[in-house]
Amino acid sequence: MAGERLLIVEDENAVARGLEYGLTSEGFTVLRAETGQRALALARSRDPHLILLDIRLPDMSGFDVCRQLRAEGMRQPILILTARDEELDRVMGLELGADDYVVKPYRLRELIARIRALLRRAYGELAAPVRGERLRFGDIELDLEHLQVTQGGKPVELTPTEFRLLRYLVSNPERPFTRDELIEAIWGYDSDIGSERTVDVHMRHLREKLEANPADPRWLVTVRGVGYKFQP
Ligand code: CA
Repeated sequence: MAGERLLIVEDENAVARGLEYGLTSEGFTVLRAETGQRALALARSRDPHLILLDIRLPDMSGFDVCRQLRAEGMRQPILILTARDEELDRVMGLELGADDYVVKPYRLRELIARIRALLRRAYGELAAPVRGERLRFGDIELDLEHLQVTQGGKPVELTPTEFRLLRYLVSNPERPFTRDELIEAIWGYDSDIGSERTVDVHMRHLREKLEANPADPRWLVTVRGVGYKFQP
């Protein structure tokens, strides 16, 4: 796949122009929005493959943009751009449906690696459907062809990242994974400082959606000193 459309949502003109230049020379098609409203309008009309989202925007916060996009059913990867010390921003972004974040100042090479990993994951080989294949545990069923999950026959809404994480763990029962291993397998790049929180947030969402008692999970269990595993 080439020429994927990336939507850059960034109100600082110099930053946005630098990004546009760097990403265009990598072969991407770049759309730019300086405000949240403009970002929502472009997301609706141009259906970008991925959205780079600054948090501090003049008219609304990036969080609101993120929440609204997901509420409207848009599922493309969202990569949050956040300042170094704004830990809360990162967690909040993930809570609202973003897939990952990059800390400013970032190197363009790193950003591009993240973008490519997210695109591969969302649209590449790894996202290819598996005809008719299903995984089951308890009253939960994963439909790997349609990327849907049901519990007791009722649909459970998972984000693509949550689905991949669940699928990976369920496909490897009883095997403990470190957060680093999960980052590499699910997000598709080497982990770095801060990424562990990404795993924790997504894991908590999965538990809240699937476990009868998320505080004392039956299936998605914590392995002390290691990470997580699926316990059938
Ligand atoms: Ca800003």
